Amino acid sequence: MKLWILIIFAVATLLRVALHLVHYRSAKNPVPENVADVYDTETYLRWQRYFGEGGRLAMIETLVSSAIMALLLIFDVHAVFASWFGQNPVATAVGVVLCQIVVEWVCSIPFNYISTMKIEEKYGFNRSTLGTFIKDEILGFFMSGIVSLLIVLVLCGSHLWLGNWMILLFAGVMCVFVVVMNLIFPLLSRLQNKFTPLPDGALRDKLTALLTGHGYTVKAIEVMDGSRRSSKSNAFFSGFGKQKRIVLYDTLLESMDEDEICAVFAHELGHGLHHDIPKLLLMNCGNMVLIALLAWGAISLPALYPAFGFDGVNYGFAFLILGSVGMPLISQLYGMLINAVSRSAEYKADAQAVEEGYGESLVSGLKKLSRENFSHLSPSKLVVVLEYSHPPVSARVEAIEARMDKKA
Ligand SMILES: [Zn+2]
Repeated sequence: MKLWILIIFAVATLLRVALHLVHYRSAKNPVPENVADVYDTETYLRWQRYFGEGGRLAMIETLVSSAIMALLLIFDVHAVFASWFGQNPVATAVGVVLCQIVVEWVCSIPFNYISTMKIEEKYGFNRSTLGTFIKDEILGFFMSGIVSLLIVLVLCGSHLWLGNWMILLFAGVMCVFVVVMNLIFPLLSRLQNKFTPLPDGALRDKLTALLTGHGYTVKAIEVMDGSRRSSKSNAFFSGFGKQKRIVLYDTLLESMDEDEICAVFAHELGHGLHHDIPKLLLMNCGNMVLIALLAWGAISLPALYPAFGFDGVNYGFAFLILGSVGMPLISQLYGMLINAVSRSAEYKADAQAVEEGYGESLVSGLKKLSRENFSHLSPSKLVVVLEYSHPPVSARVEAIEARMDKKA
């Protein structure tokens, strides 16, 4: 049993490394003609160096963290840790999860530090100070720790209480969790950033006109001080019903002209009109059902636990095996489906901006965004299909221009 788990883990790791490698090498792909003006030659060479450094770091991180996980598994370290927490199934599950998240966190710090404070810094993206970095790391640790512990407690409680019927309860709770996280996301990002209403003026009038043109209301159009952490730009749309918010990064307002901001906004409006957020949430709930099935599978393998030094079922360990063995192979496939739906939603949201008359501005806005975010212009098709929630910029520009031609 142990050998099989280790083999599956090794295969999942090798696939991840191979994918990193394909992505890494795609930096040499020729740049599509319709986005050739995003970077000048010097900037493009700089981008290649930046992408290469990030890619190498990600690969090393995957190898190091997988090697550490393999060692923990081989030497039954989780069981040793669990034994310090006595016999109670809840306490021992918590012990295993604590062991894992502390080890993962400690291993990730040097990589996050190099990524944020060295690489992003070197290429001028980082605006985090060491203080903000430390605060973010600690906050991130507590957030992911609390989430992991809550999930394990639900897993543990539902199985002890309901046996095999746990699937229903666990899947239900996870779905509620996904929806609630989406609802409180604006509140969570409020802990880390400042939000101010977009000031009155021509821009706000144009944006409001776009909204009222569709009899549409949102709770707020806000500007977020993303520039405190990074000079990369973004815009997002979150929440349901009356809680809908459109958030524009301050960096977006600094770098784009009025029509380009309207174009980005019209794109976000498209997501709202097409109900993309609830659709994707629903698909994520499907993923939770899949995870619940996998969790039930992991709990129902009695031979799994003695093989790794436990006396009996350990819910924390079931959760771990789920995360490192079950999910990379099975949930990744479902993730591919979600990404495909998301990419198609992006094309439709772009089409909405074209319908509003902002096609050309969207093209120039997307190019600016790519330039500022130092985006990959020619990613490999395989990586796009597996991991990209947004189509590459050249594909988007092509679709927008085709749509504009059709409209003209
Ligand atoms: Zn979008």
